[in-house]
Amino acid sequence: MSKTIAINAGSSSLKWQLYVMPEETVIAQGIVERIGLNDSIFTIKHGEGQKYEVIKDIENHEIAINMLLEQLTALNIIDSFEEITGAGHRIVAGGEHFKESAIIDDEALKLVDELAEFAPLHNPAEAQVIRVFQKVLPHTLNVGVFDTSFHTTMPAVNYLYSINTEYYEKFGARKYGAHGTSHRYVSERAAEMLGRPIEETKIITCHLGNGASITAVDGGKSIDTSMGFTPLAGLTMGTRSGDIDPSLLQYLMGKLGLTDIKDMINILNKESGLLGLSGVSSDMRDLESSDKESAKLALEIFADRVRKYIGSYVSAMNGVDAIVFTAGIGENDINMRKEIINGLTWFGCEIDEARNDVRGDERVISTDDSKVKVLLIPTDEELMIARDVEALKK
Ligand code: ADP
Repeated sequence: MSKTIAINAGSSSLKWQLYVMPEETVIAQGIVERIGLNDSIFTIKHGEGQKYEVIKDIENHEIAINMLLEQLTALNIIDSFEEITGAGHRIVAGGEHFKESAIIDDEALKLVDELAEFAPLHNPAEAQVIRVFQKVLPHTLNVGVFDTSFHTTMPAVNYLYSINTEYYEKFGARKYGAHGTSHRYVSERAAEMLGRPIEETKIITCHLGNGASITAVDGGKSIDTSMGFTPLAGLTMGTRSGDIDPSLLQYLMGKLGLTDIKDMINILNKESGLLGLSGVSSDMRDLESSDKESAKLALEIFADRVRKYIGSYVSAMNGVDAIVFTAGIGENDINMRKEIINGLTWFGCEIDEARNDVRGDERVISTDDSKVKVLLIPTDEELMIARDVEALKK
């Protein structure tokens, strides 16, 4: 039986799901956390609720992957390594080159490495994992599935910043976006739920997790998205600031006595957003259970930025058929969805409180009379990755 593994590698973690294809059945999944640190955590879930967990030092991704393969055989999840015929790797930056998922041979791998300039924390770790796969599973087809690919259809009018175009031409300074695999999956599902060909639909997809982004999907193509050159732009996120005036960087660096711009960017990436605003937490659940005014204000700001992006994308597409909520907050946060939609009644959006009273189910959550449908669609990036591998196997 042909099996495909979907891999999401971070600098210190490795998340994976093993599929039987083309049936799309998940037979095992797991995560290795704290790679390179002590007491790494190695978990496999399989069968009917069975769980295997070990805590021990795992020095690097190669050791993690070897351990994973050994355990897959030891737990009888696979009989031999040869069964894994495909590996799909999530890659953060694909630049303008990777317009869709691609087989990663040595030449493509070189490009992934070169694109590390656009995602220094991610691409090198992802390239490293692909190298390990090439070594330990030489018969397996490696496929790169890029966060940016879905957004390569954006027109210049939306991907260009209003700066000298030479900076784009010479250095690639433009908007690339992120979360593309998720936006692609939920927009395709949304068109199916609307019962219409995707080419005839205008959909706004809201991927609201720790990292959050909104995309305008016109006729099945991303035409604009809230993240920018990097995933720091756009909405207020768990710890990321989202959009701010760049002049503030210089001003704050002076006030904080910072001399290295990296320290400033680090503050915007790691100490801002909901965490910075509330002083309580980056996690929605903590903010919702807090009685601090700062937590309430952080929630209001989050909802406000989401509404403003939705509003601007309604204008960008000159209409909208459906708004989709997905990811941790989008799928689970009943109050936040209500807050957001209740501020959008002006163009005919109405939430049905009973339908909205749900976590993680795929369903319509707007009223029958709502001019714009509001949909809750749990995302499935891993499935999308496995499907892309399957398509390239042929
Ligand atoms: P990422 O994958 O970007 O790390 P997730 O998609 O897992 O993030 O989303 C994490 C966010 O989802 C957190 O802010 C968390 O509080 C929120 N979340 C998860 N479950 C719930 C819930 N039941 N109610 C409200 N928010 C939730």
